[in-house]
Parts: sequence; C-alpha cells; structure tokens
Amino acid sequence: MTASNPQQDRKEFSPKGTKIVPGRASETVIKGGPRVRFAPSPTGPLHIGGVRTALYNYLFAKKHGGTFILRVEDTDQQRYVPGAEEYIIESLKWCGIEPDEGIPAGGPHAPYRQSERMDLYRENAMKLVETGHAYIAFDTPEELDELRREKEAGGGVFQYDHTVRNSLRNSLSLSASETEKMKNEGVPYVIRFRIPDNRELKINDIVRGEVTVNTSTLDDKVLFKADGMPTYHLANITDDYMMEITHVIRGEEWLPSLPLHVLLYEAFGWQDNMPLFAHLPLLLKPSGQGKLSKRDGDKLGFPVFPLQWEDHSTGEISSGYRESGYFPGAFVNLLALLGWNPGTEREIFSINELSEAFSLDRVHKSGARFDPDKAKWFNHQYLMAADIKDVASAFAEIVAEKGFQTDMGKLEVICSLVRERAHFVGEIWDQASFFFERPRSYDEKLVRKKWKEETPGLLERVIKLLEELPEYDAESLSDKVKGYLEKEGIGLGNVMIPVRLALVGEGKGPDLFAIIELLGRKETIERIRLAIEKIKAI
Ligand code: GLU
Repeated sequence: MTASNPQQDRKEFSPKGTKIVPGRASETVIKGGPRVRFAPSPTGPLHIGGVRTALYNYLFAKKHGGTFILRVEDTDQQRYVPGAEEYIIESLKWCGIEPDEGIPAGGPHAPYRQSERMDLYRENAMKLVETGHAYIAFDTPEELDELRREKEAGGGVFQYDHTVRNSLRNSLSLSASETEKMKNEGVPYVIRFRIPDNRELKINDIVRGEVTVNTSTLDDKVLFKADGMPTYHLANITDDYMMEITHVIRGEEWLPSLPLHVLLYEAFGWQDNMPLFAHLPLLLKPSGQGKLSKRDGDKLGFPVFPLQWEDHSTGEISSGYRESGYFPGAFVNLLALLGWNPGTEREIFSINELSEAFSLDRVHKSGARFDPDKAKWFNHQYLMAADIKDVASAFAEIVAEKGFQTDMGKLEVICSLVRERAHFVGEIWDQASFFFERPRSYDEKLVRKKWKEETPGLLERVIKLLEELPEYDAESLSDKVKGYLEKEGIGLGNVMIPVRLALVGEGKGPDLFAIIELLGRKETIERIRLAIEKIKAI
C-alpha cells in the first residue's frame, strides 16, 4: 500500500483538538509514513481488546503506508507465562495482522524483545540520575508499607512524591558520599523519577483531546527496580524513542501513565521526537457495565480470546474464536467496529477495506459494548459470502466425524440450502443432519396438528406420483405434485407438512422439493412409508 495524499495525512495527524507539535509524528507523515507498534507483555493469552489494539495499529500503518512493529515487553519476570509470546504471534497471524518489523520479522532496531535490551535501560536510568531527573532510593518495601499503613490510618493515601521525598532514604536526602557508600555496600536500591513540582502539563491525545494534569499530583514512579530490571515506563519510553515510533496507539488503561511518559521524554531531551498518543476506549461487558475482563468469556458464554488457550498450571481451557468456528475475516471485522465507525452505515469490510477506511478521527471516546449476538451475526454474513466449495469442505470434516461419506457436489448443495440458517459451519449439521440419517422421532405437536386420518392415503398418492415421475428434480417434482393436488382439490399444507415430517422429522428445513430431490427417489419413498407405519403407532 502506498501513502495516501499528504493533505489527508495532515488531517489525520492533527485531528480536532490536537495541536500539531513539531515532533516526529508530523515530520514523518510525508517522509516514510508512520511507525507504530503493538507492545504486548507475554503474561498470558491475548485478550480481544489486545487484538483490537494490534488491529488499529496495523490499519493505521497500512492506511498511511507506514510500518507496523511487534515488540515484546517481557521485563516482568514474575508475570512471564511460557507460550504466551507464541500465542500472540499465532493470534495475529490468524487475523492476518502480519508485523512489518519486530518479532518475528526482525528489522533495523533489533532486538525487539525487551529482555534482550537490558543494558540500554540501565544506561538510560543512570543518565537520568546524572542529570538530576531521577534519584536513587534505598527505602525497603517494609519501610514503605509502614508509611502506607500510617497514612491510611489517618484516612490518607501514601504517595512517594515531592511532599515526602526529602525526608526518605534516598540520594536527595543523603549526602553524595553516604549514597555512594550504601551502593558500594550492596544495599538494595531502586531508581525513581523525580517529578517536577507544580507544573500544569497539557497533553494532547488524538482520541481524548487535551488532557491537563498538575504534576504535583503525580508520584515519583520507580524506573528501575532493585532486582536490576527496568519498569514498564522506562523500557517502553526508551524503546518507543529508539524505534522511532511516531504514534502510540494503545488501550485506555495506559492513559494515567501518559503524563509520566511525556515528562520522561522531556527529561531525556527527546521531546522533539515524542510520538503522538491515541488511547483507545475500553471494551465493555454485554451489559455495558464494566470492562470486559479475561475471566468474563466462558462465564458469559462467548470467547474473549482469539485462539483457545490452555493454562498449563491449572489445566483450565478457555475458548477461542478460531476454535468456535469464526472466520478470521469476521473476527477482524467485528473487532474493528468495536470503538471505531466508518461514518456510514456499512458494516462489512475486509481487512484491506478496513485499512482504507480507517482513521483515528473516528475512534470513539466512550467504551464499546461487546454484543455476542452481533458477533455471531458477523460470522453469518461471512458464512453467506464464503465460497460454497470452502464451506462444503469444512462441513465434509464434520460429516466424516459423524461417520458419513458423501460426495462434494452433494455437500455443496446441502450447504447452499441450509447455510442461511447457521452462524457457523458447525451449525450446518444441526440444520442438515436429516440428509444423512433418517428421523428417529417425529415432532409430536406437529403430528397431532397435521397428521389426519386421511393423511396415509394422501401420502400413498404422493408415493405413486414420485414413482411415476420420469424427471426426478425439484422443479419437475414441484410442478407435478402441486399440479396434482390442485386438480384434486387437496390443500397443499395437508400433504406438504406430513411429507416434511416424514423426511425431516419436524417442521424445519429448506425447500421441501429440494430435500426430495437430494434424498433421491428410493430414500424419499422409504421414509414416507416408514412414517406411515410409525406414526400410526403413536
Ligand atoms: N506492555 C504494555 C501492555 O502490555 C504496553 C502498553 C503500551 O502500548 O504502551 O499493554
């Protein structure tokens, strides 16, 4: 895809309420297209909200001829879950969201796994200490807990900030030699960011507009931990800068971190290369109350993960969209519309069409309610539009599992007859099982209503017609039977419903003459005879 016209890009890059800053984003618009990243932490399976974040980044990059990067943020060793990274890669692949750069593609800023970039974070943390933007803090977790308890007892909340930092055990309150001595003695320490006092910080978010924060309300966040690992904030900012990210598009849960991130860019002297930010709305539960969480899925009866996930520590299995029978295109389509709209009534888009239509301007501020019925509706649309050969070959597997064999031509006819009644290929069996096996029972209510004394006699006449007919196809069958009934003054329903009962066992199913044709003369007649026999006995 090539970059769209610069005029349109400019609009995209300076949506309403967003001031153009002379930074990286506005410059690269015309040059190389935007550089965006999806930066998941491999702490478990990817939630559908995470897939949507990846998708919006991907669509934005494709629309503007830019680069979509996958970076793995795996610095939190405690929360690391084996298999999660592979799961993320496989999920994106299934959705058709292939990274241009990063993992697994590689690229000019390798490595793209944070655990392989550790030296960089340490160096950067030390740089901030040297320039006075960060400091070394020796307070132990126990001391901090104690302070927290004291504050809470008085009804307050403890925050490590400008009000207390000078009275705690850190390199601001201790002399340089004391600090050095403690470091040399191996006393554990963290590096904290020194939030500037009382500054009115105005930040522009592409989705949210202007956000204003007074820096005195912020705490001195830890940038580097006592175990030698960077925190998310330090590693994330370092990498976004080093990887020349122009736009940070991520979930709303990161909005509270934005002031700290902006201050970090300033402290490093990187403000001219600061990306633009777009925080995406939350995905809400079907009730509209609260965030759709990882635990909701199977509890509420629909998957919250793209692919099935097995938790190896508990053996618990969570369902996935892929295994539930969703087409990847349908899944991507429904996700795209959860938090964004194209500005028209149109709902069906392929991933390429989405990337043409997508714009951050049309991302909503308010949360997007997840509607499981609508999700199924999307899949139904894709099932209807799918090549019937593909539907039939997916259905062939189910038919084989049930122990039947049928030629592909017949399966195609069956699928095209019943797919309008199914959301998933898997549901086709429920609608079409009678093509493979005779009814085991007959819908009693319908029998009582429609099976009259004269029914067996009428059916015998139908059998005769079927036996005599030279052309055994739906159209000739329909003409012949309907013509006969009309001539004889017999009501259509008095015959058609009992025949349907005999062939299907109930009142559902596609066009009756299509069923009669597909079952074939012999089987149709046998089923009608069987019904005459069995229903008599009811
Ligand atoms: N590693 C963070 C996450 O798991 C990335 C957040 C961001 O995009 O800045 O969501």
